[in-house]
Amino acid sequence: MTTYQIVDHAYDVVVVGAGGSGLRAALGCAQAGLKTACVTKVFPTRSHTVAAQGGIAASLGNMGEDDWRWHMFDTVKGSDWLGDQDAIEYMCREAPKAVYELEHWGVPFSRTEEGKIYQRAFGGMTKDFGKGGPVQRTCAAADRTGHAMLHTLYGQSVKHSTDFFIEYFALDLIMEDGACRGVTAWKLDDGTIHRFRAKLVILATGGYGRAYFSATSAHTCTGDGNAMVLRAGLALQDMEFVQFHPTGIYGVGTLITEGARGEGGYLTNSEGERFMERYAPSVKDLAPRDMVSRAMTVEIREGRGVGPNKDHIFLHLDHLDPKILHERLPGISESAKIFAGVDLTKAPIPVLPTVHYNMGGIPTNYHGEVLTRDGDNSSKVVPGLMAVGEAACVSVHGANRLGSNSLIDLVVFGRAAGLRAADVVERGAIPEVAPASTEGHLDRLDRLRHANGSTPTAELRLRMQKAMQKDAAVYRTGETLREGIQAVRAVRAASDDIKTTDRTMIWNTDLVETLEYMNLIDQALVTIEGAENRKESRGAHAREDFPDRDDKNWMKHTLAWCDDKGKVTLGERPVHDFTLTDAVEPFPPMARKY
Ligand SMILES: Cc1cc2nc3c(=O)[nH]c(=O)nc-3n(C[C@H](O)[C@H](O)[C@H](O)COP(=O)(O)OP(=O)(O)OC[C@H]3O[C@@H](n4cnc5c(N)ncnc54)[C@H](O)[C@@H]3O)c2cc1C
Repeated sequence: MTTYQIVDHAYDVVVVGAGGSGLRAALGCAQAGLKTACVTKVFPTRSHTVAAQGGIAASLGNMGEDDWRWHMFDTVKGSDWLGDQDAIEYMCREAPKAVYELEHWGVPFSRTEEGKIYQRAFGGMTKDFGKGGPVQRTCAAADRTGHAMLHTLYGQSVKHSTDFFIEYFALDLIMEDGACRGVTAWKLDDGTIHRFRAKLVILATGGYGRAYFSATSAHTCTGDGNAMVLRAGLALQDMEFVQFHPTGIYGVGTLITEGARGEGGYLTNSEGERFMERYAPSVKDLAPRDMVSRAMTVEIREGRGVGPNKDHIFLHLDHLDPKILHERLPGISESAKIFAGVDLTKAPIPVLPTVHYNMGGIPTNYHGEVLTRDGDNSSKVVPGLMAVGEAACVSVHGANRLGSNSLIDLVVFGRAAGLRAADVVERGAIPEVAPASTEGHLDRLDRLRHANGSTPTAELRLRMQKAMQKDAAVYRTGETLREGIQAVRAVRAASDDIKTTDRTMIWNTDLVETLEYMNLIDQALVTIEGAENRKESRGAHAREDFPDRDDKNWMKHTLAWCDDKGKVTLGERPVHDFTLTDAVEPFPPMARKY
């Protein structure tokens, strides 16, 4: 047993995560005069938001007519009618304001000739409720939009006196009587334990792409907040919906933004055919990601893949003016050179669908408040707990997120959480917590630190990632999913025998990796069990044995709990098919064709 030095803190609000959503939420809380801390395992500007390339959606109408209701329709349709329409209305209505706010704070957006914010086309973004073809709605700072946003937001949060706890690894939520009262964290450089008492904890810990073998997301994207929620006995929502981005660089998974197709890029098969014309005649290469990923998979399966093994697809930008490429897509020109050895002004880039985004996460309402199920099956708010960003499932993305709708989700709902915190957090003393409420956190850390079994963390992680990649892929069947469940359960069982190396050191990266892996494995389990359970195809969840959407039986959110033995329990929550205001009517379900 290691003896830990314990340091106590007390805040009105503790935000866990310093990506776009965490920084925006922290900023709002600080502006409201709440004493606010932001705890982050990596330096704020190294959060995965920094890697976002293509842009942020808002119906500014700078490149032609646009309307937030069209954006709302596209998002509902993109979600395959699993998104909650009240939340989608809120996001699309608030989006232009959120972008102007970023502009005023200093985000260096690309500009049109007249000096307005430049907007490019993105998949599934259309005019006139889908009737008018692609619209240019995605605001961009070249192909480094996330970088520009994150640096600006960090500067603003420092200015508004948020206390940053940088390179602190949050361990678990402090829960008492069903309410959240704070969070514990492990300081990475000296091994001390920090207990943050708080009236409100906001989880902004990002996605869990690293449950898969090939992902565009950073190694730090391990969904730690999601796992903390599961350990607190609360449910996650819609975890079976995992987005594959059509254009990860073949073999390495590095992202080539959808903005590349937005600027005129297109995909070809081994016959040189622009095959998307067959799958989505109206929008072609700018169909939503789930559809393009499926089309690519079918082309490869039917023998029309490119390369010696016919196992990938080409993305062409070589027909575009090199000046435009240099101005609008400088980052991916560099990525193509470094990771594929390709000069994209002369040759196509080899690409393959790659895990990119998690539509599922912590269920919240549009204020960011975390929901749980009450005894009578209705939803109720968990006191003291909110979630924002990719960790949350509001749900605005439903079964499939449209490109450039995540960055706008981060700032709209980060802001909403701050506004709500200003209303609900009572001023005055910060309540004490019983020491017993955090003992389990330390016991667990200590057990994992001294774990000296026979299987190293890295080996278990690889087995989990390979199983998820193989069995919970672009296309799924009951058979592959059941195999996957057995495989993931076996890996989880083997985790009892985990080995953390360098156990004697107070600080070591392997303990970080062990904590992250233990977080990932439970998320892998609820993902694949939810996928086996959902017997229909909707958005990113494509079942070959149930190829059609089934609105009668399945237009509902999945809830999933996972106990400490790895036993998963599934439940459901109704989809909100109503809007927030009279400004727009809900969009009734229709066939999702483009
Ligand atoms: C390569 C790439 C390109 C993308 N491009 C776009 C795009 O152009 N447009 C778009 O809309 N979306 C894009 N996305 C999606 C979008 O960028 C992400 O969904 C979004 O940035 C996630 O932001 P976030 O605030 O939720 O979390 P992140 O930015 O992932 O940040 C998570 C934060 O949580 C902290 N954290 C996590 N665990 C812990 C812990 N245990 N203790 C303490 N801190 C912790 C981390 O330190 C970090 O600060 C892209 C994604 C990728 C991977």
